[in-house]
Amino acid sequence: MMKRSTLLPLLIALSAAPAAAQVREAPSAPAEIERTAAQLRDRALTDATAYDFVEGLTTEIGPRLAGTPAERRAAEWSAARLRRLGFDRVAIEDFPLAAWVRGAEEGTILGASPQRVELDALGGSSSTPLGGIEAEVVIFPSLEALAAAPDGSLRGKIAMVNRRMTRVQTGQGYGPVAAARSGGPGQAARAGAVAFIMRSAGTDSHRFPHTGATAYPDGRQPIPSAALSNPDADQIERLARRGPVRMRLVLNSTLQPASRSQNVVAEIRGRERPDEVVLLGCHLDSWDQGTGAIDDAAGCGIVTGAAKLIADLPRNPRRTIRVVLFGAEEVSQPGGQGLAGARFHAARADAPRIVIASESDFGAGRIYSMQLPAAAANTEFMRGLGRVILPTGALMDSTPARGGGPDIGPFVAAHGTPAATLQQDGTDYFDLHHTPDDTLDKIDPDALKQNVAVWAAFAWMAAESGVDFRAAPTPAPTR
Ligand SMILES: [Zn+2]
Repeated sequence: MMKRSTLLPLLIALSAAPAAAQVREAPSAPAEIERTAAQLRDRALTDATAYDFVEGLTTEIGPRLAGTPAERRAAEWSAARLRRLGFDRVAIEDFPLAAWVRGAEEGTILGASPQRVELDALGGSSSTPLGGIEAEVVIFPSLEALAAAPDGSLRGKIAMVNRRMTRVQTGQGYGPVAAARSGGPGQAARAGAVAFIMRSAGTDSHRFPHTGATAYPDGRQPIPSAALSNPDADQIERLARRGPVRMRLVLNSTLQPASRSQNVVAEIRGRERPDEVVLLGCHLDSWDQGTGAIDDAAGCGIVTGAAKLIADLPRNPRRTIRVVLFGAEEVSQPGGQGLAGARFHAARADAPRIVIASESDFGAGRIYSMQLPAAAANTEFMRGLGRVILPTGALMDSTPARGGGPDIGPFVAAHGTPAATLQQDGTDYFDLHHTPDDTLDKIDPDALKQNVAVWAAFAWMAAESGVDFRAAPTPAPTR
């Protein structure tokens, strides 16, 4: 259990006095706030809460596709764990979702070099007829090239985008290939194709396809769509140099429009300004092939571990710390947008009172830099937090943060919520992302602890200080 404030009886006694307003506790002095942040950082480096969370969730629940009973079990499991860890208030928020569930799938090259290929349907893909479809493959180097194909020019064909993903520490090689995944099926259908296949949005050379959501063009289910493992995309490319490639695709799945998903919300209630909320996010759903260790059990372990260290302090911080394990981050929705869990939470009446938000959703790679909202640039808050995180190898970057992670987007859009970025080393992240290979053994426990250390310092200082992250940025000194 969390230790309750020992000041409480005193406060109740004093509140009867006429000068009740004067008993409001003075904020901790900045030096004291920074000292506590350093203690939290050091405790994080020996604390196993985050790893235990990741181990438990990936082992006892395993894959937890959005809108399925497994995701519901993950929410109940997490809520029980958060209660046990001593959070003040733990609740499950339930909301409607159209669930997409994978069935049998198979890809075969026909003709003179018959062979199977490894592929996985993209989330949202419609099914082929039971016996599959057979058609010739037309390869495009990019989504842009496919988008330039005239209407009707791919009638009866399978369109394939074969864009390679660049390995970058920041993960920014993902954008262009993820765009092909969401936009490819719609462009292929516009040009008349009967199916869409793509080289995986991934940097590995293993024979695992990388699944992921595609968009619902015009609100309807896209044509049958799949990702090939990277070596299989190479194979098709080599065969295509020798002559036309025909393939049979069998892709079966079901759309279950009346499903439900859940966010799990846990709070450490602010002792002075409980309505001001520091939001730490992650997402609880995963793809169905692996056990979602790096995506995103790691993030949920990190923010839970960080908040738990703060919950164990002798008194609660001035502002509320709210951990939200979002449901349904991975999937898009027919006739709507994705991020259904984040949108649901951002529509709550108290969402405009969130003072700062960030999400951990990039595996367990070490944090090498962090960025704060523009209002915090060149402030003592920024410098103090920078001093605390530096010994973990993380640098404070004074460039204003440009976003706080996928589930924070709806808060920024709806309320202008200030966001922080904790930038992790993602060099290897896309070797595993959305594949059967996303499993617990890929988590480095020491790197996970380093993440917890930085998140704990950030969350504590944001919740204990009175910094207004919405304020106008500090003007640069003029000459
Ligand atoms: Zn994720």
